Amino acid sequence: MEVSVEQQLRASCDQTFKGYRDLIAAHRVKVRSVQVGTVLSVEEGIAQVNGLARVHAEELLEFPHGIRGLAFNLDEDRVGVVLLDHYEKLRAGDEVRRTERVLDVPVGEELLGRVVDALGRPVDHLGPLEAAVRYPCERSSPRIMDRAAVSVPLQTGMKIIDALVPIGRGQRELILGDRQTGKTSVAVNTMLNQTDVVCVYCAIGQQTSAVANVIERLRDHQRLQQCVVVVASGSDPPGAQYVAPYAATSIAEYFMSEGRDVLIVYDDLTSHARAYRQLSLLLRRPPGREAFPGDIFYIHSRLLERSTHLLEELGGGTLTALPIVETEAQNLSAYIPTNLISITDGQILLSPNQFQKGILPAVDVGRSVSRVGGKTQLPIYRAVAGDLKLAYAQFEELEAFSRFSSRLDKETQQRLDRGRLVREVLKQSEDDSLDVAEQVAVLMAVTGGAWDAVPLNLVQDVELALRKRIEAEPALRQRMSQGGRLSSDDQEMLLGLAENVATEVRRAN
Ligand code: ATP
Ligand code: MG
Repeated sequence: MEVSVEQQLRASCDQTFKGYRDLIAAHRVKVRSVQVGTVLSVEEGIAQVNGLARVHAEELLEFPHGIRGLAFNLDEDRVGVVLLDHYEKLRAGDEVRRTERVLDVPVGEELLGRVVDALGRPVDHLGPLEAAVRYPCERSSPRIMDRAAVSVPLQTGMKIIDALVPIGRGQRELILGDRQTGKTSVAVNTMLNQTDVVCVYCAIGQQTSAVANVIERLRDHQRLQQCVVVVASGSDPPGAQYVAPYAATSIAEYFMSEGRDVLIVYDDLTSHARAYRQLSLLLRRPPGREAFPGDIFYIHSRLLERSTHLLEELGGGTLTALPIVETEAQNLSAYIPTNLISITDGQILLSPNQFQKGILPAVDVGRSVSRVGGKTQLPIYRAVAGDLKLAYAQFEELEAFSRFSSRLDKETQQRLDRGRLVREVLKQSEDDSLDVAEQVAVLMAVTGGAWDAVPLNLVQDVELALRKRIEAEPALRQRMSQGGRLSSDDQEMLLGLAENVATEVRRAN
C-alpha cells in the first residue's frame, strides 16, 4: 500500500516535535528563591546581618569560605548570627544566604572510633565520614510516658563509686570539683570500664593536648572503637563550643534509639556556660547573676533532659549522662554548680584536700549522693556495703574531732581504725579497674573484719593477693559476678580466703 505524501509529512513532523518536547521536558527551569543578606559587622564569634527579613530563629546560614552560622537574635532591622566556624576571613559587606534548615549532624555506626568537631566533621585524618542519617542538633527530650525507671547499674570499676554512690543506666550524675582534682579521670575510667556500652565523650573549651590525652587513653585500652569523641576546643569559636554538647547528644541518641546503652560525658559544662555567656553578652542580651543570661538554666536542663531510659516497647535503650562542672575554691553555691546540682540526679564531689593527701579517687563521700542509683545497685553490694557510706562519713567527722583529744575510748578507737582501713581500701589508681566479684570480695573482707589486724601500709598488697586468690575460684567468682545475694556459705568462704591472704602477706613482710 502506498503511503500518501500527507501521511509521510505528518510522521516526520511528529518525530521532530517529539524531539523538541523531550528537550523542553528535560530542560525545565526550576526557579528557587534564595534570600541573600549582607554582613554588617563581625565581632568575637558573632556577625550582625541585614536583609534577611524572613529568616527563622536557629536557622542555619551560609557565609562565604564555607563559614556557617545560626540565626540567634531576630531584630527588626538586623539578625544576630552566632558563627560556628573560624571567621577570620569574614568581612563586612560579605553575602549571607538562608538555607531554610536547622543545624544537623551525621549519626550512625560510622561514627564509632571517630573524632569529630561540633558540626560532625571528622578531625582525625581517617578520611571522610559516610553517614547516611543526620539528626538535628536540637531535639526534644523523650516524653514522660516514653520513659522507664532506671533499673540497671552502670559499673564504673571504681570501688568508691560502685559501692557508695552507684550510678544507674539512664541517670544523670554530676561530677564536680575544683581544677585538677581528677574529674576527667573519673569520667574516662568509667568509659574504659564499659564493655557493652557505647560512649560519647564531648570535650568543650579544653586545651587540645588534654583532649589528645583522653583519646590516647581510650586507644591504649582498645576502647576507642566503641566511642565517639566530639571536640570543640578552647581555640574554636564560642558558637562551636555552645552547640557541641547538643550535637554530641544527638549522636548518642541515635544509638539509644537502636536500643543500645549509651554513656555521654560532657567535659565540661562550666566552659559551655562561659561560651554561652560570651555570645549572649555580645548579642546584648540582658545579663543576670554572675553576668550569665537568664536562660542559662534552661539551656542546661534542655540538654540533660535528653538522657533517659526508654520503655521496652521503644527499644529499651538508655542514655546515661556524666556532666562535669568545675568549681572555684570549692564553692558549690556559685550559679552554674547549683543549677546543675538541681538538674541532675546526684553528684560526685571531688575534694582538693583529699587529692593533695593522695587519697585517690578524691571522692568526698559525705557530700556525694546518687538519688536513683541506689535502687539499681546489685543486691550483692547490700550485704557488703549496705551502711558503709554512713559509717564512712561518720568516721571522717570523728577523725576530724579526735585530733583534739589524746585519750579515746576503745570503741571510738576501733571505729577510727576501721575507717582508716576502709579509706585505704577505697583508694584506687587511675589504671586499675575492678569487676563486681573483685570489688565485693575486697569490701567483704573489710566490712567482715577479716583485715582489722592488717597494717595500713600492707593493705594494697593484701588486696592484690585476694584478687589473685579469687581468680583461682571460678565457681565462686561466677556466683559473685551474677550480682545476686551471697549465700552464708559463700560469705564464710570469702572471709576465710581474705584472712588467709592477710596472714600470708603479713608473714612475707
Ligand atoms: P582539669 O580541671 O584540668 O580538667 P581534672 O579535674 O579533670 O583537671 P584530671 O585531669 O582528671 O583532673 O586529673 C588530674 C591529675 O590527677 C592527672 O594527672 C591524673 O593523672 C591524676 N589522677 C587523677 N585521678 C587519679 C588516680 N585515681 N590515681 C592517680 N592519679 C590520678
Ligand atoms: Mg578535666
